[in-house]
Amino acid sequence: MGKPLNFLHLDMDAFYASVEERDNPSLKGNPVIVGGRSNRGIVTTCNYEARKYGIHSAMPIFMAREKCPHGIFIPGRMERYQEVSKQVFTILRGISNKIEPLSIDEAYMDISNIPLRPEQIGDLIKDKVLSETGLTLSIGVSYNKFLAKLASDWNKPDGFMVITEEMMPEILFPLSIKKVYGIGAKSQKRLNSIGIYTIEDLFSLEEDLLIDLFGKGGVEIYERIRGIDRRQIETTRERKSIGVERTFRPTRDKKMLLSYLKDFSYELESDLDKRDLHGRTLTVKIKDEEFISHTKSRTYGHYISDGEEIYSLAISLFSEMEWDKSLRLLGVSMSNLLDRNMEQLSFFPSQKNG
Ligand SMILES: [Mg+2]
Repeated sequence: MGKPLNFLHLDMDAFYASVEERDNPSLKGNPVIVGGRSNRGIVTTCNYEARKYGIHSAMPIFMAREKCPHGIFIPGRMERYQEVSKQVFTILRGISNKIEPLSIDEAYMDISNIPLRPEQIGDLIKDKVLSETGLTLSIGVSYNKFLAKLASDWNKPDGFMVITEEMMPEILFPLSIKKVYGIGAKSQKRLNSIGIYTIEDLFSLEEDLLIDLFGKGGVEIYERIRGIDRRQIETTRERKSIGVERTFRPTRDKKMLLSYLKDFSYELESDLDKRDLHGRTLTVKIKDEEFISHTKSRTYGHYISDGEEIYSLAISLFSEMEWDKSLRLLGVSMSNLLDRNMEQLSFFPSQKNG
């Protein structure tokens, strides 16, 4: 007996494109690409037919048009997708109230209290969602979040996969390193350049080397691919803020303080990346040697997650703060958070202008 399989991850298949096909059955069998109306836009979702032409999400529309001139390009109806999403989440909440939504079409479910086998729970969810919405989804079940999410991606669409403790780590070995949360395109390139392509390659690296390469994120990568992930399902996704703060030996050396601020800004970037979040309100916090704290916040007109941008905004907030004693703590935090997947909303021009 391995660890209990309490984590279920589910992901609607080609969600926006599937909603379009369902609402307009004449689209079925054709490559359907949902995305920005102009050629400058990007592909938000495409159906599996379109993927055969090498089209994928985040690809510029003009490129998708080149690859598949006869494809059906749809600007997208965000309100409709949100409506259907609500319907799906209502179904899910009828099965378990321990749900952590990750985006409009993706969620974790804690299935520890459901007295059914994972396969039965999977069938139950799929049947209900299909009969009530006409849509399919893919499900992964495992003993932690990381593996459940990998499993749901295993055999899309309409997939179902269980990863048990006994299957680890070999089951992951053939997968590309890009499947590992925390390894973005940049890191992937860097690893490829030292001959690391698969999780098996990555598995051979010492923890220290991963820490050298990825900072504290390296520990996570080292653990994840060994099946260690302590994150629990957070049913209230409404996280208020994410921040980094640290205490140090009191100093008034501005250069030193700025270098801390810089480090924390980049750390904040990677914490936001990991959760696929960005935010609009930045706060800088200081505490002086007499333990008096001050904060300064500002809300911006756009969402921010880039470390360099965080740093430059943090510098200006910091420079507006008054302090005459040595500081013993600095912190930066982001609030007014939004899931980045949800922000794709703004890629859609309003229906009227078209
Ligand atoms: Mg999806």
